[in-house]
Amino acid sequence: MKRIQMVDLVGQYEKIKPAIDEAIWNVINNAHFINGPEVSGLKEDLEQYLHVKHVIPCANGTDALQIAMMALGLQPGDEVITPSFTYIATTEVIALLGLKPIFVEVNKDTFCIDEKEIENAITPKTKAIVPVHLFGQAANMNAIMEIARKNNLFVIEDNAQALGSNYHLTDGTVVKTGTIGDIGCTSFFPSKNLGCYGDGGALFTNNDDLANKIKMIANHGQSKKYYHDVVGCNSRLDSIQAAVLQIKLRQLDNYIDARREVAAYYDEFFGPMNGVQIPFRSSDSKHVFHQYTLTLDGPNRDGLNEYLASRDVPSMIYYPVPAHRQKMFASFGAENLHLQTTDWLTERVISLPIHTEMQEEQLEYITKTIEEYIGK
Ligand SMILES: *Cc1c(COP(=O)(O)O)cnc(C)c1O
Repeated sequence: MKRIQMVDLVGQYEKIKPAIDEAIWNVINNAHFINGPEVSGLKEDLEQYLHVKHVIPCANGTDALQIAMMALGLQPGDEVITPSFTYIATTEVIALLGLKPIFVEVNKDTFCIDEKEIENAITPKTKAIVPVHLFGQAANMNAIMEIARKNNLFVIEDNAQALGSNYHLTDGTVVKTGTIGDIGCTSFFPSKNLGCYGDGGALFTNNDDLANKIKMIANHGQSKKYYHDVVGCNSRLDSIQAAVLQIKLRQLDNYIDARREVAAYYDEFFGPMNGVQIPFRSSDSKHVFHQYTLTLDGPNRDGLNEYLASRDVPSMIYYPVPAHRQKMFASFGAENLHLQTTDWLTERVISLPIHTEMQEEQLEYITKTIEEYIGK
């Protein structure tokens, strides 16, 4: 049996090697490393795939979030509502810009921001909500957009873990996650559902004015060469990464299907198991399983984590410390927060290997090993 990994990027590469190698060599031979035709090509491919008016590639997902907040004109002291149960980048950029992160609770089933808690967190200083489509499950965007409209708030979707997911809006239309709020952000970190061979990210918006601001901010606030209208940053996706992404984007739906097959296998096995909660699948959206995350209510999570490691099965705890308990935010008044569900989840979640190259015998071994530990 092939050694089990959380992700198998080499196995994935081997299947598309000729196309990838050709595309990379093409960039090198043309030496158009920055803003080459691959970057504008990817931009168009993604606009088509997502049915969104504007895609602006950038250097990574964290930059995308930061640029989104800058483009919306958020000012120091403004409050931004975000879940605490997320990857640190979501909340870090809020603080970096001098904005105030307002951490709210997540839903125990979806792992995403609890829309019922958002309204309680709104103050006259609130400017934006940043829902995170965690592990590939979309947040309740219908409810979030309604709250945002009612309270005149911006919505920035952190779509780094859910690229390719479909969402059913209340008006009956089906759209891609990341294209529902004012701005959507994603990351092309190698292990993401659409990952490149280095760092990368992008922003999505249907708003022409915002798209122009985003482009300008990502390019030193430049409106025309050597004329800088606003303070921006330097955040570019390089041509080699864009070339890789153009090829992998064609596979994205297949990759998502492969992940969903693994998830279905796990679901069938763990569904009936006592004390084991399988991932919730909302009827509003298509779960794209960036992670397959079990919640153990009874079985010892850390014990299982160690047992699996001793049997050569990798597993990960996403996330062991929620944002509001990070030292980084000690001076933000977050230490007095009581986010019961968030704390409860950080002690009970465990993510299993899931990727596009999983083999049946690996899945059998993983599930059998977990059964050994937890019992039937
Ligand atoms: C990966 C990730 C990011 C950051 O992306 P980078 O490309 O690593 O900067 C932000 N938010 C979430 C939820 C992520 O998973």
